[in-house]
Amino acid sequence: MSDLSKLPGDLEALEVRLRQDLSWLELPAKSWVPTREVDGRTVVDVVIIGGGMAGLVASGMLKRMGVANHLVLDKAPAGQEGPWVTFARMRTLRSAKVLTGPAMGLPALTFRAYYEACFGREAWVALDRAPRETWMEYLIWYRKVLDLPVRNGLSVNSVLPRADGMLDLICSEDSKKEKIVARHVVLATGRDGLGGPFVPDIAKSIDQKFWAHTADDIDFAMLRGKRIGVIGAGASAMDNAATALEGGAARLDMFVRRRELPRINKFTGIGSQGVVHGFAGLPDEWKWRFLNYAMGQQTPPPRPSVLRVSSFEQAHLHLGSPIADLKQEDDHVIVTTPKGSYAVDFLIFGTGFKIDLSNRPELAAVAPYIRLWQDRFPTPAGMENGELEGSPDLGGAFEFLERQPGSCPALSKIHCFNFPATLSHGKLTGDIPAISEGADRLARGIVRSLFVEDREKHFASLQAFDTPELLGDEWAEDEALFELSSERT
Ligand SMILES: Cc1cc2nc3c(=O)[nH]c(=O)nc-3n(C[C@H](O)[C@H](O)[C@H](O)COP(=O)(O)OP(=O)(O)OC[C@H]3O[C@@H](n4cnc5c(N)ncnc54)[C@H](O)[C@@H]3O)c2cc1C
Repeated sequence: MSDLSKLPGDLEALEVRLRQDLSWLELPAKSWVPTREVDGRTVVDVVIIGGGMAGLVASGMLKRMGVANHLVLDKAPAGQEGPWVTFARMRTLRSAKVLTGPAMGLPALTFRAYYEACFGREAWVALDRAPRETWMEYLIWYRKVLDLPVRNGLSVNSVLPRADGMLDLICSEDSKKEKIVARHVVLATGRDGLGGPFVPDIAKSIDQKFWAHTADDIDFAMLRGKRIGVIGAGASAMDNAATALEGGAARLDMFVRRRELPRINKFTGIGSQGVVHGFAGLPDEWKWRFLNYAMGQQTPPPRPSVLRVSSFEQAHLHLGSPIADLKQEDDHVIVTTPKGSYAVDFLIFGTGFKIDLSNRPELAAVAPYIRLWQDRFPTPAGMENGELEGSPDLGGAFEFLERQPGSCPALSKIHCFNFPATLSHGKLTGDIPAISEGADRLARGIVRSLFVEDREKHFASLQAFDTPELLGDEWAEDEALFELSSERT
């Protein structure tokens, strides 16, 4: 057995092992989807929009299942996909280091294998959680060792249904426009993939120069010596507060609606293979009940993030303090809560993300036809929940469904593989733990659809296939016995 524990810098050995594992498993499977052409150009079987973690695993699964003709497009430069080295401001991931997440069941593709190969077994044992930059480096390595077909710097601006049932993707790279024809499109567009950052309307009462959302590119150097207000107490709110304090903020006030910080991570607490594979089978009212309850309880900020903030004496926590008013006064803002008024120079909204299809120009042509849960499922009494009501009602392979049957058949070719899929499928998208299971469900569904759609071609191949297994000389009929038995009858 190879020992990956000895030396840091054994990444090459790990890659050799991964290649060996893949070859023992006969992976990737042979390519089998018949080629199509439109206007003399090859149609891409699947285009995945987004080359973050979800897009990479989706690509890995499709490749594994022999859908070789697919592409991953990301507007971000290579190595900067997703939040990890852009707007994420935590030191480490929240997730336990042992989660196998994107590894698709391959031991040599796990974060642990990667980390031990880079830094040694002792470093792994000493590691508490994955530093976010190291997680990004792991994703970069993942893409490289699986040789995934990612194109960076390409924005998908619109997804347009075609008369022949396929989809046109209008893309741009700097000022250059490009059209790609695809049979299926996967939206691996991230936490805000069907919407954007959520900021309460009250923010509009002050000039934009006084505030930012945690997902914005914030120049923390400019906040040095300033009074900062943070609204919300989720993970991102806490990490932004810590970054401001570490950058030299003179004072930090965190305003939290609740009377207590949530302490228990409910949904993670009951995580199991039962939840992963069983959630999608729940009756609708139970799906709603589970998620509405978990959302109501809220996810606590990670303990290290809270300690990172509370270690500063100029940090002040205000519980039971919803924002009642924001008023601009000269070069600062007065924040009023039921408990008092506070002067701040800059506000950071840690208020999460929302689903809002009108925020996604790439989906403008199809958005009016997408069925949401509120179009089909009456909200259970006492469980009103805007986010769940606005969630897309998805089919078995994460594909959109039509609000009016027949109004936009192309929706069945657009797969929503991002966080808003949770109500339909459970937590198989949007975070690390079960992303491989999600990608497996997605890829199987696409494979089924591609095969069924090409049935005539596959049937023609069946008829045309003429490579003999038997050569005809293996066993001849016994003629004497044949004559005898013919006489008796
Ligand atoms: C700050 C932060 C910390 C998190 N920490 C954890 C954690 O510790 N553990 C955990 O399990 N989860 C965590 N998550 C949740 C989740 O794992 C991450 O959001 C993860 O990045 C999701 O991967 P993704 O591929 O779905 O989306 P992303 O990584 O966001 O990737 C989406 C990609 O789509 C691209 N894109 C979007 N639209 C287009 C378009 N029109 N054209 C081209 N490209 C496009 C973007 O450029 C982006 O690179 C965290 C999330 C955030 C925001």
